[in-house]
Order: sequence, then structure tokens, then C-alpha cells
Amino acid sequence: MSERRRIVLGTGNAHKVAELTAILGPLLPGVELLRSDGPSPVEDGDTFVANALIKARAAHRHTGLPAIADDSGIVVDALDGAPGIHSARYAGTGRDDDNRALLLERLGDATDRTARFVCAAVYVDGDVVLERIASWEGEVLAAERGAGGFGYDPVFLPVDGEGRSASELSADEKNAISHRGVAFRALAQAIIAR
Ligand code: IMP
Repeated sequence: MSERRRIVLGTGNAHKVAELTAILGPLLPGVELLRSDGPSPVEDGDTFVANALIKARAAHRHTGLPAIADDSGIVVDALDGAPGIHSARYAGTGRDDDNRALLLERLGDATDRTARFVCAAVYVDGDVVLERIASWEGEVLAAERGAGGFGYDPVFLPVDGEGRSASELSADEKNAISHRGVAFRALAQAIIAR
């Protein structure tokens, strides 16, 4: 990939745009990352990869540009993998604090609190489709900790976070070890190698 080019990000989530720009910017120098202004597609896939492809294909169709998207969520063992691909709409209100409260309520005082964030990162350009998936292992805390990040960050204690919740990590610290950081660094390598 030698020529200067533009890639559209198929996400309307401002937190994700910020994380993706920070992760991908240094790895794809000379590439302009744009935000898609198209309508949000219905995410009716039954896997993280399927939903990421729905978002990337929608952004690619809308703009005609190569598109990158992700689908992500938290997978909790004691809840048989819930909320999983339904993480963003778990409580049905579209609010992160409601989603976290419902997760803590459903887990109650369960002793097995193991969980992981999963991120499927995809690139779509016509017939070219690249996919990378990564997880970030940890456990669900009994109560919220920290004020940074988004989504389930305040209730997630990563195994490699030195005792801090995902919310208590700086943006750079989180991007260095998170599901989204790992998946998108791998995707960037695949894009460069095309
Ligand atoms: P998506 O935008 O459909 O992929 O929904 C992802 C949802 O999963 C978000 O709305 C969050 O609830 C949750 N999620 C994904 N990644 C993270 C993260 O890095 N921190 C906290 N929550 C996350």
C-alpha cells in the first residue's frame, strides 16, 4: 500500500473513533481516516465478525471507500457468554450505565466472575475482506471503579492491568493491551501487506 489513501471508519461510536484513530494513525501513516456519515445498519449477525462486516460493508457502500469497522463486547462465563454481541443494547436503553448495572445485577455475588472483551476488526474494499479477532481477559468487579473509558470499562478488571480497572488505565495504556488495540494492530499489518 504505497499511494496516499483514505479509509472510512464504519462506526458512529465517538469513543471507538477516538480509540481507532489513536491505534491506527501511527500504523497507517499517510492514510486519512474518515468517519462515515451514512445510516447505521441493522446489526443482525450472530457473531462479532458478522456484525463487523455488516458495518464495514455499509460504510463501503455509502462512501465507495475502503472501510474498517469493528464489533465488540464483553463475554461473561457465568452468564453463558452474555451479553456478548448484545453488549451495546443489553439493558435496552442504549445507556452504558444501565448496561453495567444490569450486568452487576445478573452476576450478583457469583464467585466465578471471569470475562473477556472481544473485538472483531475487519477491512472491506470490494471483494477484499480482511478479518482479525482478539480478546482481553479479565473479570467483572463487584462494583464500578474509575471514571475513564466507556461501556463496561468501570466494571472490568483486566488480568494485565496491574490491579486497575479498564476505566483506571490511561487511553494509551488501554490501547496497548486491549482487545481493540490487539485486533486493529493485526488488521493494520494485514492492510499494509496487501
Ligand atoms: P458495538 O459498537 O456494537 O460493537 O458495541 C460494543 C459494546 O460493547 C459497547 O457499546 C460497549 O458496551 C461494549 N464494549 C466494547 N468494547 C469495549 C471497551 O473497550 N470498553 C468497554 N466496553 C466495551
